[in-house]
Amino acid sequence: DSITGSIKNAVNKIRHKDDVASLKKAITELKKSLLKADVHHKTTKDLITAIELETKRLGIGQDSFLKALRNELSNVLTTQGNQGFVFSSTPPTTILMTGLQGSGKTTTTGKLANYLKLRKKKVLVAAADLQRLAAVEQLKQIAAQVEVDIYYDDNEKDPIKIALAAKEKATKELYDVLLIDTAGRLAIDEELMLQLENVRNAVSPDEIFYVADSLTGHDATKTATTFKEKIGIDGVILSKYDGDTKGGVAISIAHQVGVPLRFIGIGEKMPDLEVFIPDRIVSRLMGAGDIEGLAEKTSAVIDEKKAKAVTKKIKKGEFNFNDFLDQLSMMSKLGSMKSIIGMIPGLSGMSSQLKDMDLENSDEIKNIKALIGSMTPKERETPSLMNTSRKKRIAKGCGLSEVQINKILKQFKNASKMAKKLSSKGGMKGMQNMLN
Ligand code: GDP
Ligand code: MG
Repeated sequence: DSITGSIKNAVNKIRHKDDVASLKKAITELKKSLLKADVHHKTTKDLITAIELETKRLGIGQDSFLKALRNELSNVLTTQGNQGFVFSSTPPTTILMTGLQGSGKTTTTGKLANYLKLRKKKVLVAAADLQRLAAVEQLKQIAAQVEVDIYYDDNEKDPIKIALAAKEKATKELYDVLLIDTAGRLAIDEELMLQLENVRNAVSPDEIFYVADSLTGHDATKTATTFKEKIGIDGVILSKYDGDTKGGVAISIAHQVGVPLRFIGIGEKMPDLEVFIPDRIVSRLMGAGDIEGLAEKTSAVIDEKKAKAVTKKIKKGEFNFNDFLDQLSMMSKLGSMKSIIGMIPGLSGMSSQLKDMDLENSDEIKNIKALIGSMTPKERETPSLMNTSRKKRIAKGCGLSEVQINKILKQFKNASKMAKKLSSKGGMKGMQNMLN
């Protein structure tokens, strides 16, 4: 349950201007929905008190209730401190990744590496989780996937030595960033804390990130607090904050732990990481979508020059199958469909219904790639060449039926039409207008 649906219920309780009794009802409804969304009861109490006061100050009404809610949520989420990624003045910026086992440390290490690589940084990840047998292997695979370097040593049993050697390599070889993945435990234990303390003292990281699993609800808040007290943390990354996660945990952590949220993980894939921006989260919680987030994500993945060239082609009606393939691969770099849908105003409510549709590995995309693969270079460049005999030949080549092929060709036609429309209406803005 996201907060979104029940906020509407709460707002609808307010019937008339200056109707104090209906405001009380709205507040009661809001309280229920905040608690249901996993907002801690202390945080909830503070929030609704502030919202009630603020609504009265603004003059009771649906608009002022929404405005007060937005302001107060935003206040809570705006914890003092750094936002996003902050580079040290003396590279390599060294980050210690901490958290419980299964919280998403290793995945998030890869996501951050990917995020930084897309921004042209030279990144080294270090495999200092020697607790779990497969942990080093997992980080190796992730590093290969996002194409960053990794430091590991299969013969070393001491995470402190791994961390130190990685730091030495990163310094000598002029890396911009070093991300150190560490071991977790199922629950807080002294041995783990001591190990982390020792690694921290050895490499003096610029920042310690705590990866909190948002699915663990109130436990995430409690554990983050303990990590803060024992080893000191500079930022929280909230993992598994996908479309259908109860959103409240972000509010509780910000309110109770007093450490800024830096990034959120919104899916299992490497691109599924976003800078934590309070107002965007508020919009998302309140169902207003997150068009800025989508724009930022798109701009990091999409090559500006290429995009301009494609737009030109589209306008001239020269969009071909090669461009189509390019567009598809860009789309798959954006991550899961669910996370993209969640950011589009008006569609955000749909994200929980959408199964995690995998753009890269869906049958549809595979078929399209197979079809285009069986075309001659000339056919790819000139879609209008397509005719029945060519289709028959291609069908044999890619193993698809003619019906399937016709369907894909139709999709291609629609995509070029849609693209033409979008480019004439001004890209993202055009899309927003179409949806509204
Ligand atoms: P670690 O033990 O802390 O290193 O955790 P891992 O990085 O191995 O992640 C544990 C599981 O959580 C894996 O199956 C990940 O794919 C999954 N995971 C991590 N981050 C996210 C996220 O943001 N969303 C979703 N849906 N799954 C995630
Ligand atoms: Mg791990």
